[in-house]
Amino acid sequence: MHFIEAKTILTPQNGMNLYRGCTNHCIYCEARNRLYKEDHAFTDVSVKQDGCILLENMLKRKRTPCMIQVGMLADPYMDCEGELGYMRDCLKVIERYDCGIVIRTKNANILRDLDILSAIQKKTKCVVVVGLSAADEELSRKLEPEASGVAERIRIMNALEKNRIPCILSISVIPFLNDTEENLMGLLDIAKDTHVYGIEHNDCSIVLKKGSREYFFQELERRFPQKALLFARQLEQQEILSSPDRKKLLDILNAYCREHAIVIDQEILKRYKRTYENKTMGVQLSFSNIL
Ligand code: SF4
Repeated sequence: MHFIEAKTILTPQNGMNLYRGCTNHCIYCEARNRLYKEDHAFTDVSVKQDGCILLENMLKRKRTPCMIQVGMLADPYMDCEGELGYMRDCLKVIERYDCGIVIRTKNANILRDLDILSAIQKKTKCVVVVGLSAADEELSRKLEPEASGVAERIRIMNALEKNRIPCILSISVIPFLNDTEENLMGLLDIAKDTHVYGIEHNDCSIVLKKGSREYFFQELERRFPQKALLFARQLEQQEILSSPDRKKLLDILNAYCREHAIVIDQEILKRYKRTYENKTMGVQLSFSNIL
């Protein structure tokens, strides 16, 4: 980990990148592609040391509050956040400026901040996207070794439900590694039992571009040596890797979600994450009417 002085912390689309690079070591990580031109190793996380001040300055200048998206280039709750607490400081600013937030994580460190996430959800909208791609602990450790284990991620999802914070389960389906019906059903049962709002599935495919691709094949040899040959024969040249059982898996996903009232339409989920809500607007209006 190293600290940098940055000039900005929000992208034009309101993506917040407090950390760049990640230590979860997910085999299918697409952020490795987005950051492969950086001058440091992906796991040598760069930390914006004045991130909280930058954020406050940027939110001050915004005319209207917005949804802020966190977690596209790093898990904001990876181990270093446990020590630094920078994400917590940023959440306090986001809450103060009445913004909403979408956080992607695989780490139970997020439970520390449930109080602020609940406060944001009460005023506007807080959505947590929990990534989980295997229902079995051993397989999960091979796919996402430094993320929290399956039981811990279920604990996050239960805590979100208890605090009425909407959760979306994000599943990465990787051909030959976790694309079995048994694994999918295990994940769907977790989604149902924790009452998630929706499920993201990226069309039961992963995208491997430069940076992500080299890491995937290097780790495939190391973590799944017996499966490497299947890729060499069938999928090594492709940028989008889809399960040979993709259609069957999508049918199962759609039917299960319809039966259990889980949102599975990917466009609806995208819109839901982008749409800002202000739950206190009615109160503010009636207040100004009185005055
Ligand atoms: S949590 Fe996200 S950014 Fe971090 S290694 Fe996994 S896929 Fe990449």
